[in-house]
Amino acid sequence: METIVEFGHSAKNKTFLWKCMNDIIPSSERMRRVMQYSGDMCSMCNQAVETTKHIIWECPFARAIWTSILVARRSMDDAGTTGHDWINSWFTNEFIKLDADWIIKMANACWKIWKERCRCVFDGKKPNPVETIWSIGLILRNAAGEFEQGRFIYERGYLDAEHAKIEGLRQAMLWTEELNIYQVCFELDAQTVVATVKEDYQKARWETQKLALDIISLFSKCSLWTCKFINRKNNKPADKLARHSRLFQINRSWIQYPPNFIVEALIYADANGVLNPII
Ligand SMILES: [Zn+2]
Repeated sequence: METIVEFGHSAKNKTFLWKCMNDIIPSSERMRRVMQYSGDMCSMCNQAVETTKHIIWECPFARAIWTSILVARRSMDDAGTTGHDWINSWFTNEFIKLDADWIIKMANACWKIWKERCRCVFDGKKPNPVETIWSIGLILRNAAGEFEQGRFIYERGYLDAEHAKIEGLRQAMLWTEELNIYQVCFELDAQTVVATVKEDYQKARWETQKLALDIISLFSKCSLWTCKFINRKNNKPADKLARHSRLFQINRSWIQYPPNFIVEALIYADANGVLNPII
């Protein structure tokens, strides 16, 4: 367990991993065993008894999440491994060499699976792995607010929503550079990310600060690039693109004509005065 403490990730994730390793998370099976609660089936899939290992490893919901992280599924090859040994193996197996952030992604995914499981148990929310995985949707509009190009990027294993948004901004900047567009307003529906790149990179979590500094440096080179926060409702077209990318796990671009599934959202955004050229 020391390895996890040294690893220095957020306290809630560490505590949760520690609980998983020691099999003391309040799963339905444990609640039945310890507190004599009735019912021990997994409320996410209703297919098996809800043990710790089921929640983080065996449940189809968990497995759908693990597909979004590079080689996570390969680390789960031996079904006989205990949850304890599996988590322990994260620190010693070869996968960490492929991706320096691998452990953070694994820890975040575990925590997210648990949060979704609790939402399902306590709020009756239907599990939705597609909504739980992050992806990027970008839309380029001209000065009149008309659609010019769109693209979505499905990359495996963003650390969290903040990481996906900040990487989305970087991708948008690279895209505009590629297209030689000099005057751009990047609109994002993530207030923290806007504050991070406009005010102080330390507003981002430490894992994304390096990326934030890269973006600040790109901004300093282009004086006609700005960045602003817009509310989520007006960012629906880009949101829909990102969702589509998660559903089909692909990258794609559109030039001149938007895909049908975002037309309605574009009309709404237009009617609400979203006139800046890019998300
Ligand atoms: Zn299940």
